[in-house]
Amino acid sequence: VSVLEIRNLHVSVDTDTEGPREILRGVDLTVRKGETHAIMGPNGSGKSTLSYSIAGHPKYTVTEGTVTLDGEDVLAMSVDARARAGIFLAMQYPVEVPGVSVSNFLRSSATAVRGEAPKLRTWVKEVKQAMAGLEMDPAFAERSVNEGFSGGEKKRHEILQMTLLAPKVAILDETDSGLDVDALRIVSAGIEAVRAKGETGILLITHYTRILRYVKPEFVHVMAGGRIVDEGGPELAATLEDSGYDRYVKGVEPAA
Ligand code: ADP
Ligand code: MG
Ligand code: MG
Repeated sequence: VSVLEIRNLHVSVDTDTEGPREILRGVDLTVRKGETHAIMGPNGSGKSTLSYSIAGHPKYTVTEGTVTLDGEDVLAMSVDARARAGIFLAMQYPVEVPGVSVSNFLRSSATAVRGEAPKLRTWVKEVKQAMAGLEMDPAFAERSVNEGFSGGEKKRHEILQMTLLAPKVAILDETDSGLDVDALRIVSAGIEAVRAKGETGILLITHYTRILRYVKPEFVHVMAGGRIVDEGGPELAATLEDSGYDRYVKGVEPAA
C-alpha cells in the first residue's frame, strides 16, 4: 500500500526582508492510498507551507524531519522527480502559463509523470471524459493555462489534472476557496471520482468546513501555529463548524 509519511517536519520560509523564519514546527502525518485526510486551520497556520514543502517549492527549506513516499526520501528528490513519484499538488493560487494550451499542458504533464507520451487515441478519449465529468466545455482545452480563468475554472482545471495524472498522493490546497455552490459541487464530485478509484491518498486542505459536506474525510487534522494540534474523525469537522478555531488559536504562539 502506497504511503506518504511525514515525521517531525520543520520548515523555514525564506522571507525577502527578515531572512529565514520557522513556519512548520514538527508536523507528523501519514496518508495511505485510498484515504482522505482533511487538514483544517486558521489562516497563517502553515497549511500552504506544508503543501509547498511536500511538492518541493524552493522558498521553503526543511530544517528537520523527513518526508517519504513508499519509503523513498521525497526531500532528496527534485520537483519533477516528486511529480514522477506520484505526488500531485493543486495550488491555492494556480499560476498562469501564457501561450500554453490546457490540452498541451495536460499532455506534457501526463508524459512527464508516466514516463512516455500517452497513446493519442485513448488520451483524447480520457481527456474528453474527464472534462465532461467536470462539466467543462471542450473548447476550454484550447485556452491558455489559467489565463483569464475564473476562480471556478482554475479549480476545475486543477481537478482535471489530478484526474488524468492519477497520483499516489494528491494535495489539494484550498481547492474549495472562492467557489460558488455549483462549482463546489462539481469540484467535489471530481474529487470523489478520483477517491472512488481507491488509488490515491488525498490531503484536502481547507479553511472552511463547507466542502466536507460533499467530500467526507476519514481523518481530520487541525493545524495551528505550524503544528497539528488536534486530530479525529469526521465528527471533528462538525465540531469546528460550530465552534471555529478559537480554542486552538488561544495559547498558540502565532507562526507569523
Ligand atoms: P495557511 O496556508 O495556513 O494560510 P501559510 O503556510 O500560507 O498558511 O503561511 C504560514 C505563515 O508563513 C504565515 O505567517 C505567512 O505569512 C508565512 N509565510 C508563508 N510563506 C511566506 C513567504 N514566502 N514569505 C514570508 N512569509 C511567509
Ligand atoms: Mg492562507
Ligand atoms: Mg494557504
